[in-house]
Amino acid sequence: MRSTMQDAPLLINRILRHGEFLYAHKKVLTVTSDGVREATFAQVARRSEQLAVALADLGIGEGDRVATFMWNNQEHLEAYFAVPCMGAVLHTLNIRLFPEQLAFIINHAQDQVIIVDDTLIPLLARVRDQIPTVRHIIVNGIDEAKLLGETLSYEDLIARYPSGYEWPEMDERSASVMCYTSGTTGDPKGVVYSHRSIWLHSLASTTANSIGLSEKDRCLLIVPMFHVNAWGAPYSAYLAGMDLVMPQMFLQGDPIVRMIRELRPTVSLGVPTIWNEVLHAAEASGDADFSSVRGLLGGGAAVPRHLIEAFRDEFNVDVIQGWGMTETSPLGAVSIPPAGTPRDQEIEFRAKAGRIVAGVEVRVTAEDGTVLDHDGTSVGEFEIRGPWITGSYYGVDAPERFHDGWLRTGDVGTLDNLGYMVISDRTKDVIKSGGEWISSVELENAVMGHPAVFEAAVVAVSDEKWQERPLCCVVLRPGKSASAQELRDYLATKVVKWWLPERWCFLDSLPKTSVGKFDKKVLRALYVEGTLDVITLG
Ligand code: ADP
Repeated sequence: MRSTMQDAPLLINRILRHGEFLYAHKKVLTVTSDGVREATFAQVARRSEQLAVALADLGIGEGDRVATFMWNNQEHLEAYFAVPCMGAVLHTLNIRLFPEQLAFIINHAQDQVIIVDDTLIPLLARVRDQIPTVRHIIVNGIDEAKLLGETLSYEDLIARYPSGYEWPEMDERSASVMCYTSGTTGDPKGVVYSHRSIWLHSLASTTANSIGLSEKDRCLLIVPMFHVNAWGAPYSAYLAGMDLVMPQMFLQGDPIVRMIRELRPTVSLGVPTIWNEVLHAAEASGDADFSSVRGLLGGGAAVPRHLIEAFRDEFNVDVIQGWGMTETSPLGAVSIPPAGTPRDQEIEFRAKAGRIVAGVEVRVTAEDGTVLDHDGTSVGEFEIRGPWITGSYYGVDAPERFHDGWLRTGDVGTLDNLGYMVISDRTKDVIKSGGEWISSVELENAVMGHPAVFEAAVVAVSDEKWQERPLCCVVLRPGKSASAQELRDYLATKVVKWWLPERWCFLDSLPKTSVGKFDKKVLRALYVEGTLDVITLG
């Protein structure tokens, strides 16, 4: 028997329409050097329509790629709606990529138009003569230096066109947005989201058992809009009626503490390295005010336990950890403690990567592919499947990343019988010492709990006796000191003895990837080159 329910396609234009209808007055606040610029959801919707008409007039049609090279701001949000709603594909470019990588992905995606913020023109100019598919560059702001040759002005362009675009109907499985992985572990690979996958992902992030985004929320969007669609929050905002605060380039600890005090977000999304900076800036500022915040969402890398505890104890703020990947849209798991957990025991759950969100399935497999028990102790690779998990990479054959229809995440850890994931490592970062795994993530988190430590990353280095041993790279907090021996003694109270690193080095800062994670590839290379000043303890 077949059901006769209506078959309305899940298109992004319906997210836009819903938001502008029910939440017309809701706000998009863009932080600038001259104060905060405000627009309503309704105004953004009108301007998205104008942008779509303008792009159509530039010859952009169904399936064509339109790229953005932008900070988090109102115009970026307009492109988020205009491009997919007109049937084209939005390609968000990572502004922190090396020029070769940037040119590679623009050419690979065959972008035809790039919308760029004026402050980022010099970065894009470095590749202008290597991207032949790009026919038009639209500048958001003032293009004084003309470094990119002939450009169009965003405001002049959209001012020429009316609003009131009739968004086309299309297959909900059509491409809407594409994003390349940040290349932490290899060449960037493209992931193409559909209208349907973005719809379902947005719904998932509004459910109470995940992030529960709602009309009551105002979201400070620290995570860049080129990092997995800012974790989907721009679309969730229109679905749920959530204000957005767009920080543009003001992404350091002090301005973020100020934005939280003055613009009073209820939630904020960012990678843990940012929250670490914010914590230290807040401690130093004396007038930090987190009273509006119900949760700081940290994901993209493990959120250290001490960071969660420090925000709770010093500022009465919950840190909500999430797990995901470019390939998973990204929401896969969120670390909300189970109902009834006493407040003083919540940390046990908040320190885990997260609990699987409704809509996706997660399992752990052994090296030979057998599925392991979700008993909280069997260690293996996580595999995931679901309607917002990618089934392939754009234009690249990568069968090794899939297993019986499941995506192999490259993350190693355990899954328990309540659905909580604990990540001990990425397969590429694991440390195998004498045949046994040492978790670099657990070691890092433990060292970062020491009061003198600002940041720490642990990588595998080769060892004659044990094949591999951990090297601990530490950045101390300003004005604090601690010796390698002292840190090792501290660690000895937290982890088993055979995990304790013999090799230590102290750095002024840790290398970071284009989305702000510790760059372990670079640390390993520096070690092999002999550039690091390594202290070896007996
Ligand atoms: P890249 O793969 O280039 O780093 P992604 O942003 O897609 O770009 O990274 C996804 C990876 O980030 C995951 O596979 C996982 O290793 C890591 N990650 C994300 N969230 C967490 C978390 N809460 N705990 C530990 N690792 C995480």
